[in-house]
Amino acid sequence: MSKVPTITLNNGVEMPRLGFGVWQVPDDEAVRAVGTAIEAGYRSIDTAAVYENETGTGQAIAASGVPRGELFVTTKLWNSDQGYDAALRAFDASLARLGTDYVDLYLIHWPVPQRDRYVETWRAFEKILAEGRARAIGVSNFLPEHLDRLVGESSVVPAVNQIELHPQFQQAASRAAHQRHGVVTEAWSPLGQGKGLLTVPAVATVARKHDRTPAQVVLRWHLQTGNVVIPKSVTPSRIRENIDVFGFELDDDDLAAFAALDEGRRLGPDPAAFG
Ligand code: NAD
Repeated sequence: MSKVPTITLNNGVEMPRLGFGVWQVPDDEAVRAVGTAIEAGYRSIDTAAVYENETGTGQAIAASGVPRGELFVTTKLWNSDQGYDAALRAFDASLARLGTDYVDLYLIHWPVPQRDRYVETWRAFEKILAEGRARAIGVSNFLPEHLDRLVGESSVVPAVNQIELHPQFQQAASRAAHQRHGVVTEAWSPLGQGKGLLTVPAVATVARKHDRTPAQVVLRWHLQTGNVVIPKSVTPSRIRENIDVFGFELDDDDLAAFAALDEGRRLGPDPAAFG
């Protein structure tokens, strides 16, 4: 079984470099999928209040037999719960559904700049962190301008920004902003949602060269680029395949082939307008 290396967040907490995402996995199916993932060696699970599968995720964790301290659980605050009091209430509800008394990472899911409540929301996150009910706090889908403002107006720098990132949307500007602030980049939809990316000829060529699958070389590209990744699958063989990425390395030619794939095109919504 592969042992997943960790990255040290800006508050000293260790986070697995590869985790399991459960977006669009129905609650009852999440029990089985998360169970399979933990069995396969995943120790980090990425859910969110809006995924409506925190309950199933929590059940799988409880049933896994793996001590809670060896797992890294992330959940996210939904947009309609932004604001100081609402965020504190939403966090309690997430913990209750997960059946745990702390999370490892709590994220503001989207900045929703038009409502302008993310700084106020962050105050609640700082309180949750201070109480030890989240080991780390961070954001998701924050553009550099949102991150700059949050860092300028608060005392805790987000540990992580979870953003859409894959070889066809490489996010150079955001990654540079993260580096400036000491924020870890976590890639959502790291496989490009399993759409066109995995059949791109250049990806297939690199995969053949290493006798690996397209998904595996894409995940390897993320790891060598410095990203934390959270691929999703509900298929047991793919769940296992996606964590088996620590026994090989892409070389400079492979990385150059990946660099040429950037199209600067999002699959998901634009954070400047969404919410
Ligand atoms: P992904 O890039 O992980 O792709 C998942 C899809 O790729 C699967 O549904 C399947 O169709 C395919 N796939 C998976 N493994 C494969 C393999 N080995 N071979 C071939 N095809 C394979 O997409 P995602 O689910 O959108 O993103 C991963 C996780 O990121 C989510 O589950 C969620 O946890 C997180 N996420 C966060 C946000 C956010 O706003 N913060 C948004 C989207 C996703």
